Amino acid sequence: MNPAPDPLPDQTSPCQACGACCETDASWPRFSLEHDDDLALIPPQLVKADGSGMACEGDRCKALSGKVGDMTACTIYGLRPDVCRACLPGDEACNIARARHGMVAL
Ligand code: SF4
Ligand code: SF4
Repeated sequence: MNPAPDPLPDQTSPCQACGACCETDASWPRFSLEHDDDLALIPPQLVKADGSGMACEGDRCKALSGKVGDMTACTIYGLRPDVCRACLPGDEACNIARARHGMVAL
């Protein structure tokens, strides 16, 4: 089971104007140690057919709304996979994703 729920994103987070990690690699938003009960709450149309992670269109997670680098939001924020929770602004995965979108230089 996930720790304390966080149904609303932090409105002060730089992620609100980014979203790069959500549109970088279709293999990124995979499931790992999430509880089956939590995964069952994600709308099935947003989950890969094989149940291994979030469904994507190209490299873009289907749960992402908005435009990367402008204004974005995760439409399943409170249910997002652990890998998404673990990616924090300024960490290695974040910088790789942002570099792929030309937002930072590595
Ligand atoms: S974790 Fe980094 S790459 Fe992902 S949305 Fe936030 S700032 Fe962007
Ligand atoms: S589930 Fe949400 S946070 Fe995770 S990649 Fe998709 S849009 Fe981004």
